[in-house]
Amino acid sequence: ARRLALVLGDQLSFELASLRGLDPRQDAVLLAEVREEVTRVPYHPKKIALIFSAMRHFAEALRRRGFRVHYVTLDDPDNCGSLPGELVRWADRLRAGEVHLTECGDWRLEQSLCHCGLPLVWHADTRFLCGRAEFARWAADRQPLRMEFFYREMRRKSGLLLDADGAPLGGGWNYDGQGRKPLPAGVEAPMAVRFAPDVITREVLALVGSQFAGHPGVLDGFDYPVSHGEAQALWQHFLDFALPAFGDYQDAMASGEPFLFHARIGAALNIGLLDLRRLCADVEEACRSGRVSLGVAEGFIRQLIGWREYVRGIYWLQMPDYATRNAFGNRRPLPAFYWTGQTRMNCLRQTIDQTLKHAYAHHIQRLMVTGNFALLAGIAPRQVCDWYLAMYLDAFDWAALPNTLGMAMHADGGYLASKPCCASGQYIRRMSDYCASCAYRVSESTGEQACPFNALYWHFLMRHRRQLEANPRLGMVYRTLARMPETRQQALWRRGEDLLARLAAEDGL
Ligand code: SF4
Repeated sequence: ARRLALVLGDQLSFELASLRGLDPRQDAVLLAEVREEVTRVPYHPKKIALIFSAMRHFAEALRRRGFRVHYVTLDDPDNCGSLPGELVRWADRLRAGEVHLTECGDWRLEQSLCHCGLPLVWHADTRFLCGRAEFARWAADRQPLRMEFFYREMRRKSGLLLDADGAPLGGGWNYDGQGRKPLPAGVEAPMAVRFAPDVITREVLALVGSQFAGHPGVLDGFDYPVSHGEAQALWQHFLDFALPAFGDYQDAMASGEPFLFHARIGAALNIGLLDLRRLCADVEEACRSGRVSLGVAEGFIRQLIGWREYVRGIYWLQMPDYATRNAFGNRRPLPAFYWTGQTRMNCLRQTIDQTLKHAYAHHIQRLMVTGNFALLAGIAPRQVCDWYLAMYLDAFDWAALPNTLGMAMHADGGYLASKPCCASGQYIRRMSDYCASCAYRVSESTGEQACPFNALYWHFLMRHRRQLEANPRLGMVYRTLARMPETRQQALWRRGEDLLARLAAEDGL
């Protein structure tokens, strides 16, 4: 039977299981830019441009390899606007007897494709180390789930950073305690590598500029890798210039330095331009040859084969219910400044401004600035999740949902992480230079000029005391609260109430 293989915008890999065994004489590959997938949330225009441009480059690369490729552009008058719709139209037109697909990164999309009425043949997404069923088996008799034990399994399975006898290199599985320093004066991050848009990308930029002008975020200055070759150059640049210092400064934040020592490979990896196993092998090689320390290599590999695979496993294990979880019952709408950056809180302004400009912020900015604020202020998790999905170049539902809903918002009640990632302004002061030029004073908790994070932190702990007090990891914090004079507790509560009331007001925070 004639095969048609559908390749999605985050599946741009030659190794994709659904591409294997295609006969170029009769089988075909379909890629389609569809409106439904880029308007469900108001995606950053740079993100739409990246995916469309990378899809077009991949289609060209497949053609060069002899594949018969059908490509539907967004402005094709016959484009019906949805992936199931385009798949049905092309299966019919090509009289395909079988439609081959690789597992999606989005539960909703996978469901809608499953119900399109065609004879579908699904393939596992072998770009990941751990399959969905394998994760479900691992999780079956474990409660609570913890990433650390899953990660050790993945180390054993991949053989990464192991001795000849299978023990972890250096004797420990995890060197997480190392690094995590603020950026000292005088340490400069390497120059960011940039990729000038070629003809294909320039066409996409014109299309996106005309079709999605109302979406938040800046399209100008697009310089991301859109092909396998460019993604590899970005990776090599990181290996050569940033990886050795990455471990020390991965949590640091600095004004006007959006990238620091971060690899920024998340988007390229998630859409298929880079290969997980190859990245891990390169980092291991850098370690074994002495170019980076074991702590740095282990930390980086843990993010790739530990955390990344773990959140994907949880996503597929828990969907669709996971998306509706709201353990704190939060209902407050997302403040308008998340879409504009217009707030007097400098840490949020810096993080949101660079997000609007680059569709990028690193994990600590996402977790401890924008995420922490949303948690402390009791924002509805669904709205926060939509914001992260829309704004970040590398955010796809399987990764963004557990990271936002579970890790940042603790809305799953502690299923993913054993304690909420809540912090006062002191954490931000320690890890950044933001507070020095802020309209608020990080050393104060009450009063008009006091840093809003401080009172909101205590307000959060007080209002969720019933749910959180028994958590052993919060025991010390609640003991500190209990030791505070009653008048101090009341002043913090009142300041918190006032801040929450002002969040919705015209002048905001
Ligand atoms: Fe953020 Fe508070 Fe520091 Fe201002 S003082 S930058 S609001 S942590």
